[in-house]
Amino acid sequence: MNGKLNVQTENIFPVIKKFLYSDHEIFLRELISNAVDATQKLKTLASRGEFKGELGDLTINVALNTKEGTLTVSDCGIGMTAEEVEKYINQIAFSGVTDFLDKYKDDHEQLIGHFGLGFYSAFMVADRVEIITKSWTDQPAQHWTCNGDPEFTMNPTDRDNRGTDIVLHIADDCKEFLEEQRILALLRKYCRFMPVAIRFGEETVWEDSDTECDKDGKPKRVEKKQPRIVNDPEPAWKKAPSALTDDDYRKFYHELYPMNFEDPLFQIHLNVDYPFNLTGILYFPKVKRTIDPSRNKIQLYCNQVFVTDQVEGIVPDYLMLLHGVIDSPDIPLNVSRSYLQSDSNVKKISSHISKKVADKLEEMSKAQAKKQADGDEEAKTDGATQLEEKWDDIKIFVQYGMLTDEKFCERAMKFFLLKNTEGKYFTIDSYLDKVRPLQTDKDKSLVCLYASDADAEHPYIEKAKAKGYDVLLLDSPLESHFVNLLEQKKEKTRFVRVDSDSIEKLIAKDETIPEKLSKDEQDKLRPIIEQTIDKQRFTVQLESLESTEQPITVTQSEFMRRYREMAQTSGDGMGFYGQMPENYNLVVNINHPLIGRLLEETDADKQQTLVNQLTDIALLGAGLLKGEALSRFIKRSVDII
Ligand code: ADP
Repeated sequence: MNGKLNVQTENIFPVIKKFLYSDHEIFLRELISNAVDATQKLKTLASRGEFKGELGDLTINVALNTKEGTLTVSDCGIGMTAEEVEKYINQIAFSGVTDFLDKYKDDHEQLIGHFGLGFYSAFMVADRVEIITKSWTDQPAQHWTCNGDPEFTMNPTDRDNRGTDIVLHIADDCKEFLEEQRILALLRKYCRFMPVAIRFGEETVWEDSDTECDKDGKPKRVEKKQPRIVNDPEPAWKKAPSALTDDDYRKFYHELYPMNFEDPLFQIHLNVDYPFNLTGILYFPKVKRTIDPSRNKIQLYCNQVFVTDQVEGIVPDYLMLLHGVIDSPDIPLNVSRSYLQSDSNVKKISSHISKKVADKLEEMSKAQAKKQADGDEEAKTDGATQLEEKWDDIKIFVQYGMLTDEKFCERAMKFFLLKNTEGKYFTIDSYLDKVRPLQTDKDKSLVCLYASDADAEHPYIEKAKAKGYDVLLLDSPLESHFVNLLEQKKEKTRFVRVDSDSIEKLIAKDETIPEKLSKDEQDKLRPIIEQTIDKQRFTVQLESLESTEQPITVTQSEFMRRYREMAQTSGDGMGFYGQMPENYNLVVNINHPLIGRLLEETDADKQQTLVNQLTDIALLGAGLLKGEALSRFIKRSVDII
């Protein structure tokens, strides 16, 4: 029979092609999804007892015929009767297409957003499409052909086996879809975890021979061709968490990211039925200072059909650093980014994921404590919680989460761990309680000291420890923002880096140390020191410190340094704070005997050497003595010895 499709537009296919150009390749996903659906429907009929025949091998077959210029997708699913082709292919879909074209002709974004592409996406790459189908019911097979204009033919045909072949005659400008590697790549991208086995050509494997042996009597390794199955129909995220070991999770991680050789730290298996449907596995990968969010991204699936790995807006921002898969039938398939982000289900999913992550971290922070309470011997000797063990690697996720998600922050305040320079971990509150007695200043503010780099700031850390203070190690790239956040959350608490002030002033107490130099002497001292330094960069600051403290030290204001760092890590490096020059203070301890000697020195050369030596040592301690100045210092030091 010949027929005219139910469309008004003369030729809609060029329109489809034009509008959806960028997403051309998804035709294969659409056709194989249909084949999967048809197969699943048959299985359902069989399980209900409505279909009584043999299911047989239900593998979906994808075949290229370069000679004919065709790509064929074949399934052994329910097939279609003539009536069904008429209803599902000729009528509904086409009228749907015209409706949409009419409605959204001025708004391409919307069009792509709402348009369920389905079967007709075949015309994005083919100039002729054939359907050869036989229904599971006892009705004649049908052969339908359409070459892209609204005309089609449909005739009964000979075909005994149940199922559907969709044959695409690939258009001249789409020849890439006749290349094996291109199709293989598409199958691996979109169909990798579809729930029915998909075969594409053959692959070569090596195995032990049954008949031949090598000279040692071992079975010979022989080459064998076997059907190439391109997907894993039962991915780990679809299985019950209780059926999976840590090893299974690790294996699946490497299946997802074959190019990533590092094991993940741990994972969260998502499994929600209500109020929306969601499964998936999220992995915490090892990241430290270098984060590359463009690699190994979270993949989004809809019933095991790959949708996208652009998950912005679906996964909370801070969890974009995670790896893994999310699968939800409630995530609309063919929609634009902006549409996806405003979708209410998608929003719920995002906050659910955030909650699950907090749950998991909370559980990890408790696990060991419970074990201890239960009398687990091992746990008693090693009190580290699971969270402590992984903390250094995941801290940055948690910090990022706390900085960007208020709700998550509230929960994380309870399990967030602060690590000190001794390598011990404390929850925030327990840490503040621990340091409160010694580190409260004269204004009743609690002052927490920290270092960003335990090696570089070693001299300063030592000084603080000598006073009995504790020093935290805050070394992630987000620390300056994070410290700001903690100061907002905890009243009367300040964080200052160990090198931000002289030790007496870091935590200012009431007692003052008597000055050994008079005001006159101090006025004389200042220019002697100033002549040795770059006054643009350094400000001389005379202070009355313990005589045992260093004669001269370099400090850098906490405020200036922190805002500068914050500007830099916010990608606002060119902003006001980011552009500020780095300024330091040169703190001169007027009570140190060497400073007294410096002032008394009458030989100008000797005085010069002494002041140079003292300032250079201060710069060296701060890691600021470099280049020519460093060479001069080394030479001068040797001369002195
Ligand atoms: P959708 O899949 O969104 O319903 P399509 O245009 O892809 O839209 O397909 C329309 C209908 O055609 C399907 O719902 C299904 O009933 C039928 N169909 C398409 N492909 C097959 C197939 N391989 N086997 C059986 N029926 C099919």
